[in-house]
Amino acid sequence: MANAVLKTIAALEAELPAGRVVRDAESLAARRHDYWGLQAVLDRGPTPALPPAAVVRPRSTDEVVCILRQADHDGTALVPWGLGSGVCGGVLPGRDALVLDLGEMNAIVSVDDESLIARVEPGVRGSDLEADLQGRGLTLGHFPQSIAVSSVGGWVATRASGQLSTRYGNIENMVIGLEVVLAGGRVLRCGTTPRSATGPDLKQIFLGSEGTLGVITGIELALWPRPDWNKGFAMRLPSWEAGLEVTRELLQGGYRPAVLRLYDPIEAQRNFAPWFPEPAHLLLVLSEGRENMRQSLELEIEAALAACLAHGGTNLGREPLDHWMGRRNHVPSWDDLLAAGLVVDTIEVSATWRNVRALHERATAAMGEVPGMLQASGHTSHAYSSGVNIYFTFVGQATDPVEQERIYRAAWAATMEATLACGASIAHHHGIGRVRREWLPRELGATGIETLRALKATLDPRGILNPGCLV
Ligand SMILES: Cc1cc2nc3c(=O)[nH]c(=O)nc-3n(C[C@H](O)[C@H](O)[C@H](O)COP(=O)(O)OP(=O)(O)OC[C@H]3O[C@@H](n4cnc5c(N)ncnc54)[C@H](O)[C@@H]3O)c2cc1C
Repeated sequence: MANAVLKTIAALEAELPAGRVVRDAESLAARRHDYWGLQAVLDRGPTPALPPAAVVRPRSTDEVVCILRQADHDGTALVPWGLGSGVCGGVLPGRDALVLDLGEMNAIVSVDDESLIARVEPGVRGSDLEADLQGRGLTLGHFPQSIAVSSVGGWVATRASGQLSTRYGNIENMVIGLEVVLAGGRVLRCGTTPRSATGPDLKQIFLGSEGTLGVITGIELALWPRPDWNKGFAMRLPSWEAGLEVTRELLQGGYRPAVLRLYDPIEAQRNFAPWFPEPAHLLLVLSEGRENMRQSLELEIEAALAACLAHGGTNLGREPLDHWMGRRNHVPSWDDLLAAGLVVDTIEVSATWRNVRALHERATAAMGEVPGMLQASGHTSHAYSSGVNIYFTFVGQATDPVEQERIYRAAWAATMEATLACGASIAHHHGIGRVRREWLPRELGATGIETLRALKATLDPRGILNPGCLV
């Protein structure tokens, strides 16, 4: 272990209240990495991830300031940790770094029920925040599949999206204020109102910064009244194009259904077997809001139904939608899948309406050509008037960890290359971490990467914050 990190640990043990620096083997092992699929593969081989030197668990912004000041002074790497559900290798500290676990800073500080704004600490668990808000007749409207295993700070740091984003927006649409501690211990506070024209929006620098530019210690979020009405249906459609057209027409017609999910036949059959003995395309639609909005929401659902029928759809009723609603946060663990000889991951990208058809075709074909691949498929789940995301899933077959790694890396490379070739974006909502790092310069361009590096050099001149991630 490097001298610098030992020095920082000793200083923090002296400066912080007892119990903040944790070094037991179990705590260190649990924070060796996030939920990155490749790391799960590598952990089964000869090079599992090493535990960090220590975990530091601050309870206030002042304590975070103290930690960042000390780490900067010593040149010790520090890796912020929310709840470790990131899937891109954003957290991989190694033995010479400290993990800065924000889990103890988990207070819902205040809820302003007049302006509908919540102020929270970064480590609050998503599902705890939502349960609290629902109890007050409110909602954040942010429902990532990982809501029970991810933190609000992690959502901001990764630019996360929830399953109902088409109605409520993505996390960047919800954050109205941030408090961030920079390397060296300077505190930046930005944003207090729904909008301002006070130069560039500094908050946006930290949305998606993945722990590399500062530590998020306070977040103000815009809320909504909790919906008490919804209506939806599932539609079998004759083609992927038909589903894309329905989605595009609805969004460009000004509608914002909470759920618009288009599954290709492989995914429809895998996830909705009782309704899909034969493969076919599936679109799920759900509108929701307050009872007082019922009339306009009914119009939204009617418009969706009419568009589906005009494109040759067959109405399956509400049951498949409820089936998805009931199971939408269930995910098998990597370990179970790998032990069963299956190499699985998801890759979310986004495209304009003009290039999304080519993207689905090229990416699934390219993944399908990887030796050992069983299935390559996709669905859309976040729609905009100018385009949509695609959430690809690949399933490969191999039992040997070396072979599993080969399939994993080849599937990612195939999808990233197809995405760039189609002029699409390589990440819709999981971020860059380590898994997409080599393709980022091709999306941002040389000047984009230089700008990102210049930001990093200014905000974190010694490069102590999450080195190896993003840039
Ligand atoms: C089963 C499953 C389903 C998922 N579904 C979704 C989904 O629907 N939508 C979606 O967007 N994502 C999803 N994810 C990915 C993941 O949950 C998100 O990326 C989430 O935002 C990560 O939050 P976390 O608290 O677990 O962050 P972590 O994994 O702990 O950290 C993620 C990154 O953010 C940094 N970070 C964390 N907290 C802070 C902070 N306070 N300040 C600065 N940097 C920080 C870390 O250094 C790291 O780089 C899913 C993951 C899993 C495992």
